[in-house]
Amino acid sequence: QFHKSKGQHILKNPLLIDSIVQKSGIKPTDIILEIGPGTGNLTKKLLEAGKSVIAVELDSRMVLELQRRFQGTPFSNRLKIIQGDVLKVELPYFDICVANIPYQISAPLTDKLLKHRPVFRCAVIMFQREFAMRLVAQPGDALYCRLSVNTQLFARVFHLLKVGKNNFRPPPKVESSVVRIEPRKPLPQMNFKEWDGLIRICFNRKNKTIGSIFKQKSVLSVLEKNYKTLQALRLSENGSLEDTEMPVDVPILAEAGEDLSMEVDDGEDEDDEEMEVEDVDQKRSDFKDKVISVLKQGGYEEKRSSKLAQADFMHLLSLFNKAGIHFS
Ligand code: SAM
Repeated sequence: QFHKSKGQHILKNPLLIDSIVQKSGIKPTDIILEIGPGTGNLTKKLLEAGKSVIAVELDSRMVLELQRRFQGTPFSNRLKIIQGDVLKVELPYFDICVANIPYQISAPLTDKLLKHRPVFRCAVIMFQREFAMRLVAQPGDALYCRLSVNTQLFARVFHLLKVGKNNFRPPPKVESSVVRIEPRKPLPQMNFKEWDGLIRICFNRKNKTIGSIFKQKSVLSVLEKNYKTLQALRLSENGSLEDTEMPVDVPILAEAGEDLSMEVDDGEDEDDEEMEVEDVDQKRSDFKDKVISVLKQGGYEEKRSSKLAQADFMHLLSLFNKAGIHFS
């Protein structure tokens, strides 16, 4: 009996399994990570192709079945099973990840893999078709979204195979696709929290113009608060702007070696402490003007996120940062 809640849909088409393994480009020296091995149909072919397989499986019944299947075979000492939730366990070193995963963990798993260090060579994963199309979507595609931009910041993503429901037992409700995720080498050197802060705002309403998104009161007030906090920190000599929680925490963007978070502003700001109450509205529209002038400077005011490429967002972020405006 299979558990729907654990996303248990077993691959039953051996030709499809062969095709996935072949497209993975596994080397005989590879340590392979498999997530959710289930009854082991894919596991067996992975063991034939690589040096060893580390399989992370949540369901103890599946773990037993897997152990039974490979016990006493030449494969048994090349298979290591970790029983647990892949999102919670600490992943060991691996060269390549190949997996038919439970679809409910798609987003957090992709995130976990992209943050995994040392960086692996590639991951070949079965996803729900729509999730796969979001991962690979390009500017202008209907499914282009925050997930597309953020994933493609760290990895090149390719659609490999469309997979119909009937390749699984029991068949899932949705269509599937196999995707190849290749982490970029080197990884971009940037403050991801800051980047994601911008991307979240831009894709909140991806079909609106960037100008109208940034003129929203809610957006302006958050940015202005950040702006003031940073200025206050800058005033106190020991104010450190480093964010120690960052998984990918290297001083920000593209412009080589420049620590934009510490950048000194153009000096046109007054001391907030002494601001008169009646000046508040004026201050707010000053800040709004500042934001709009950044957008104008890069020609982004009339553009829409749905059409902007990664390089555009990087440029926009660097313009904001230069103006002392930050997103985290
Ligand atoms: N790989 C097998 C195949 O292709 O036939 C089974 C794939 S099935 C779609 C997903 C497998 O992931 C199931 O065996 C399920 O028990 C396991 N699973 C579900 N949630 C998991 C989690 N959080 N961590 C690890 N494994 C999980």
